[in-house]
Amino acid sequence: MTDEMIEIEGARVHNLKNIDISIPRDQLVVITGLSGSGKSSLAFDTIYAEGQRRYIETFSAYARQFLGNLERPDVDRISGLSPVISIEQKTISRNPRSTVGTITEVYDFVRLLFARASTAYSYNSGEKMIRYSEDQITDLIMNDYTDKKVAILSPLISGRKGHYRELLEQILKLGFLRARIDGEIKDLTDRYKLDRYKIHDIEIVIDRLDMREADAKRVKESVKTALKHGKGIVQVLDMETDEIRFFSKHLMCPSSGISYPNPEPNLFSFNSPYGACKNCNGLGEVAQADKSKIIPNESKTIKQGGIEPLGSYKDTWIFRQVTGILAKYDLKLTTPISDIPEDVLSKILYGTDESVKIESRSGLSDYSVSFEGVVNFVVRQAKDSSSKSILKWANSFMNKVSCPTCGGSRLKKESLYFKLGDKNISEVASMDIAPCVKWFKGLDKKLGAKEKRIAKEPLKEVISRLTFLLDVGLEYLTLNRSATSLSGGEAQRIRLATQIGSKLVGVLYILDEPSIGLHQRDNHRLIDSLKSLRDSGNSVIVVEHDKEIMLQADHVIDIGPGAGIKGGKIVGEGPVKKLLAQDSVTAQYLNGKVSIEIPAERRKGTGKNLVLTGATGHNLKKVELTLPLGKFICVTGVSGSGKSSLINQTLYPVLNNHYFRGNKEPLPYEDIKGLKHLDKVIEIDQSPIGRTPRSNPATYTNVFSDIRTLYSKLPEAQIRGYKPGRFSFNTSGGRCETCKGAGIKTIEMNFLPDVYVQCEICNGNRYNRETLEVRYRGKSISDILRMTIEDACEFFKDHPRILLRLSTLKDVGLGYLTLGQPSTTISGGEAQRVKLASELSKISTGNTIYILDEPTTGLHFEDIKLLLGILNRLTDQGNTILVIEHNMDIIKMADHIIDIGPEGGAKGGRIQNEGTPEEIVKNGSGHTAEYLKMEL
Ligand code: ADP
Ligand code: ADP
Ligand code: ZN
Ligand code: ZN
Repeated sequence: MTDEMIEIEGARVHNLKNIDISIPRDQLVVITGLSGSGKSSLAFDTIYAEGQRRYIETFSAYARQFLGNLERPDVDRISGLSPVISIEQKTISRNPRSTVGTITEVYDFVRLLFARASTAYSYNSGEKMIRYSEDQITDLIMNDYTDKKVAILSPLISGRKGHYRELLEQILKLGFLRARIDGEIKDLTDRYKLDRYKIHDIEIVIDRLDMREADAKRVKESVKTALKHGKGIVQVLDMETDEIRFFSKHLMCPSSGISYPNPEPNLFSFNSPYGACKNCNGLGEVAQADKSKIIPNESKTIKQGGIEPLGSYKDTWIFRQVTGILAKYDLKLTTPISDIPEDVLSKILYGTDESVKIESRSGLSDYSVSFEGVVNFVVRQAKDSSSKSILKWANSFMNKVSCPTCGGSRLKKESLYFKLGDKNISEVASMDIAPCVKWFKGLDKKLGAKEKRIAKEPLKEVISRLTFLLDVGLEYLTLNRSATSLSGGEAQRIRLATQIGSKLVGVLYILDEPSIGLHQRDNHRLIDSLKSLRDSGNSVIVVEHDKEIMLQADHVIDIGPGAGIKGGKIVGEGPVKKLLAQDSVTAQYLNGKVSIEIPAERRKGTGKNLVLTGATGHNLKKVELTLPLGKFICVTGVSGSGKSSLINQTLYPVLNNHYFRGNKEPLPYEDIKGLKHLDKVIEIDQSPIGRTPRSNPATYTNVFSDIRTLYSKLPEAQIRGYKPGRFSFNTSGGRCETCKGAGIKTIEMNFLPDVYVQCEICNGNRYNRETLEVRYRGKSISDILRMTIEDACEFFKDHPRILLRLSTLKDVGLGYLTLGQPSTTISGGEAQRVKLASELSKISTGNTIYILDEPTTGLHFEDIKLLLGILNRLTDQGNTILVIEHNMDIIKMADHIIDIGPEGGAKGGRIQNEGTPEEIVKNGSGHTAEYLKMEL
């Protein structure tokens, strides 16, 4: 029995209520439930954590001393566990040297193909590069020079300065009497002298032959000697015409003689010194100073700090030099920068060497200054500084631009002149994956017989791995797409495709919402991939909310009934059919008994629009985006169609720069109109509400400062003279100094996430004894932080300000969180709702645009209902909501849909449909319209 089941007994991690559960092996299992119900606590923090721990225990004691022993998750027993691999959204490398090609290992095989089966071309003449054997060279000389006088030469020096005295002596010692120097044959016994400051060409004259008499044996002998001294290259000089021909054992251009190294896979790797572009070291990008960041506001003067890196005026040598340069042209530090002539400003920015008068203690005196220039200084710091803070400072004035030397291809010039069929490796890597697979499938026909044979195996690997990427819906990516620009969902699906490609057997895979970022149209492909992982003999556990994936699973585990302390129990389990017959929230949703009501009427909005025109970033085709304000707007489209390029990377930076002087460069666009109808933009994402355990819902929503004020007004606090600061755990005074108010201590683990343990001095209470003695209705400030939001609403019901903030948190379904729950333990979906709640409790101006990217991530059907409630409230206050979504339950509720498509990548980037859901069902075309029809 244990063989077919993973048996878990007594799991108590986080909110899990001492649960026992058997999970079938070699099946596709979905774990579902409300956000915060305990799904990850079971899947990742229990099953995966125990799998990892057992894995590390198999390491040698030596290795373990670096890794540390992992703590056992709080569970009595787990049996039937096989090796576990987790495929999460955040686990992919964010190294700028990683690309889709390198992470999937497809690029390794492509490099191998280029090394073994490509044809090289000369970058000088475009001719095919040729490689000869000794015998071929001999035959060619015998054939082509039948009645001529020739010299056989070994090239040593080509176009370099020097006197080469020792070299010439060495040639003599080797027994050669002549050399061809700068195009003329010289007798070396004449003690020939070279001008050391001129550039020279030197070849050894190996042999001189009259071809009417010479025999093949002698020619071959000379060629052999010449190749040896010329490092594989031999030159043949026609003594009458002075014409030279090159022959090489290496790849060489027959007319210019340049040669390439023999191609090895690392010649095509931008992560190897053999292949990387020297200018950008294979990154494809270089940093360049951005004048608009150095002088953000030309109406300021230099004295006021108009040149940002200099800051405002200080009595320093650099300011004195600048003053001196300005004075020479009758200008002052108080001259607005816009009034400084271009050429003078350029001296300050880019440097100058001249004599200027500079003020010093002894009065005004002439100095010859060699001024480096502010821009050059910044660039130098960004390149060379070893201090992290200076690097950060300098980089804040720089932009990343595509490397001018390699054009962003990351590779050196030679590498790009090797072609398979009609394409070089960079062209192959920049094709969308769908056409790329096609191209590789057709490559066979373009190769010669020998190449075809060599290419067979690597080609098979490339095609099968690319096909796995297609299968998980990533046809719009390119092999050269940098890992840093991938979304979490894309990264996760790449890992999934790579795992399928690795063909492991007997593994337990755990995935976390792989449907994120995927359009309904592509869902079945994902499901097929998960099934193929299972069918090759693995167990697959997926934490999911997607209806279709649940219906296709072999086995479903439903955790609940509520979230947080109200969850943590198994409320349903079994094959889907069995689950459907039950009556849990999930079952009712799956069998269609409950659904979200579509509103009778769509909002009219304010009648005003925000219009962004001419967006051309990535695949966008001069898009004109019209947002009707005061509506709940949904942006839809298949993955890769261009939604985030348009919204997150064009619109949002434009708005953020306008309303908040942000500094993120938007993707290219022409114009934006209607900014005056709004007064701010707020992006609400699922990033943590704080990076450290010191932030929590109470601090984030500011309710904690009202609570601290309340505590400082209590009689006990008044007598002792305690101010609100006394009740802060982030400043000293009232807190426990051992843990600095954290209540826990952080233990840093090499290679592994930090571990937190309770502070033994305050017992996790965060405050010192005196502070804890102040009590309100029997509770200390520390007790308050441990209270759930729901209980706190009751406790503070007579304090309207505090109650308002707390009740909005409760309204968005977070009543189960405690006020002091460290932000590091709050899930993405919970964090998003904390942010929304804190927006809701602000006095609304009604002119805000909120931008949300897939807010349903991590959300169960019930959670989505809550989320929609909040979004509707915000819209009803007059605000505009802009949501990128794939979830039909959200899309069908929108007042207005902007559908981008028709496909992903190059075939997308246009607005396919816009209007109300009803209009799109009636008149629209494409994938979203099709799926929307089933909903309305
Ligand atoms: P789900 O995956 O279903 O959204 P989780 O398993 O992440 O839910 O969380 C279950 C409960 O445990 C939630 O109340 C959450 O806030 C809490 N929790 C999660 N991680 C931690 C942690 N590291 N420490 C304490 N509580 C946690
Ligand atoms: P969506 O948000 O609809 O999934 P994206 O806007 O992410 O689509 O992608 C649209 C197209 O732009 C795709 O072909 C994608 O590969 C490309 N793209 C997106 N981000 C980048 C980037 N940082 N560098 C290069 N291409 C990108
Ligand atoms: Zn480069
Ligand atoms: Zn402490």
